[in-house]
Amino acid sequence: MVIKAIVFDADHTLYDIDVKKAYDLMFSYISHETGLDKVLLKTVWRSHICTILKSDKSQDVNRRKREFVLDMVLNQLDVDKSKIDKLVKSSVDLFWKSVVDNLILKPNTVETISMLKKTDKFVLIVASDEYILPLKMKLNKIFGDWKQYFDYVISSDIAGELKPSVKYYDLVAEKYGLESRDMVFVGDSWVRDLEIPSSMGACTVLLSDKKEGSPTHFIRNISELEKILDVN
Ligand SMILES: [Mg+2]
Repeated sequence: MVIKAIVFDADHTLYDIDVKKAYDLMFSYISHETGLDKVLLKTVWRSHICTILKSDKSQDVNRRKREFVLDMVLNQLDVDKSKIDKLVKSSVDLFWKSVVDNLILKPNTVETISMLKKTDKFVLIVASDEYILPLKMKLNKIFGDWKQYFDYVISSDIAGELKPSVKYYDLVAEKYGLESRDMVFVGDSWVRDLEIPSSMGACTVLLSDKKEGSPTHFIRNISELEKILDVN
């Protein structure tokens, strides 16, 4: 097995995230700024999310943006139109700051990525359906400077689609001129991260506490990659 590129999912693969706190902070802020009830805000938010998820636009990267949904919520609740843009921006900024501040390190992540980088045998790639700015904020929080570890970062804005999508596979294959046998995909979700690469013939590694799908390898700790990839 000659592996040339290792493609990592980000959320729950390289780190864990807690968005609950971030949503709470965001809605508290909007409630404070507008005088609207926080529970009402959350309810209207959820109903818009449900509508989007049920529609044929559920995979639309722009419609899934928090900015887009918040704008609809605030318009529906008759917030002064001249204030909406600024309010949306400040609350989404607060949301991301909280997500990044509360990122949860997963054991052995930085050590393992650093070891893989030092071998100089692999191109290391992050393929996440997060948006590019928050994705880089999160990676920098964990790794200091993501560029010191990763060669290429694919986000939902770059792929143009959320996962699962073959775009993430195609972008890596095309950028580096790779065949499926040259790639290994590492992720915490069989359906979102691994099923498509697996169907294309790539090696897949499920990093999770729970076995699902039919990955080539199943690991509970990222440090097990060293053995799988036969690094030494
Ligand atoms: Mg994930």
